[in-house]
Amino acid sequence: MVSKNINKKSNVLIGVTAGIAVYKTLSLVRLFKKAGADVRVVMTENSKAFVAPLSFEAVSGNPVYDNMFARRESFPHISMKDWADIMIVAPATANFIGKLSAGIADDLLSTSALSFNKIRILCPAMNVDMWNSAPVKRNIEQVELDGWTIAGPDNGSLACGDTGMGRMLEPEDIFNQCMNLINSSKNKKIKKIVITAGATRQPIDAVRFISNPSTGKMGLSIAAEAEKYFEEVVVIHGYISEKKESGIRYVEAMTAQEMLAAIQKELNNTDVLVMSAAVSDYFYENPEMNKIKKADSDEINLKLSRTPDILKETINQRKSVFTVGFAMETTDLEKNAKKKLEEKKLDMILANPLDEEGAGFASDTNRVVVLKKDGNKEDWEKQPKESIARKLIAQIITDYDK
Ligand code: C5P
Repeated sequence: MVSKNINKKSNVLIGVTAGIAVYKTLSLVRLFKKAGADVRVVMTENSKAFVAPLSFEAVSGNPVYDNMFARRESFPHISMKDWADIMIVAPATANFIGKLSAGIADDLLSTSALSFNKIRILCPAMNVDMWNSAPVKRNIEQVELDGWTIAGPDNGSLACGDTGMGRMLEPEDIFNQCMNLINSSKNKKIKKIVITAGATRQPIDAVRFISNPSTGKMGLSIAAEAEKYFEEVVVIHGYISEKKESGIRYVEAMTAQEMLAAIQKELNNTDVLVMSAAVSDYFYENPEMNKIKKADSDEINLKLSRTPDILKETINQRKSVFTVGFAMETTDLEKNAKKKLEEKKLDMILANPLDEEGAGFASDTNRVVVLKKDGNKEDWEKQPKESIARKLIAQIITDYDK
């Protein structure tokens, strides 16, 4: 059974070349939109003779990209390859396949296709005799070797009046093949990842608690990215104000103690743990069942105790778990983060400054210094949390094998 739900954050790039089948590509765009993906369309100049860009703009909800030298993005042919998770060229003409096989890059679509190395699919559409010609056969073999999946063509009546191989696959068939590829491309070594997110809440009485401003945005962005690569994604969370995505299992754990218990329960068959939750360091041991009344006393004294340090408590259980921690610091960012990396036995720590604009709590962006167990260090400049999440998951996949 093919899953009809693509990850909500999946970015799908659809390239359109000049074939009569282009009208079917409008339905393909709609199928991806319906499944929750963000879709951008790149058109070649000649394809506009078949369908106006406006039609693709209407169904994709995004501007159509057609100009390599447009000013709206500095390098559209390069930014496309970073933005997209999957690229589909439908219809792909004999001319386009020839260019791709030879490495010719003379417009936005061919340059984007040449630099794209994630899941990539070609849906050929042409006359039966062209499809059977020796050069097209050679080119198809070459682009397959280069990593493209060829979907179709189909047998049937062709626009030119001939009958035979050459019809572009129906949009539903292309969509299903894409979903199969996405599902089977899941990482084989890392099967399960557990991510903590949000702010813990340690109760004082029936209505008051000790907490912090974390919204869970960083953790949930990491989970959404992880869902594209790993079979099982579990988010253990305290308070979060961000929307939950499908395809992820959520476990609520409001206090540090509950979070520790929830993690211990999951850890035995976990490959990767990412601790991005902001966990309270102190708690009030005997929270009142009722609301403490103002009138009762002019002052109240709360004696706070240390919460369990989850990462330290789980060191033994985590021996074969690749673990990533976070450190939010106001002073000596690197020095403090290095100490935590060592003391908490982490493989990697992402340290971010708390007092810097566009980093840390409740911000859409973050700036981090990454320290690794092997002594390596990287600076990830200020960027959206989704993009930090992308970099982190890519890094985990690379380092997991080392
Ligand atoms: O020591 P500090 O709280 O700065 O360390 C931050 C890292 O430790 C984060 O990854 C956080 O999720 C984790 N942590 C923990 N248990 C606590 C407090 C923080 O595992 N009680």
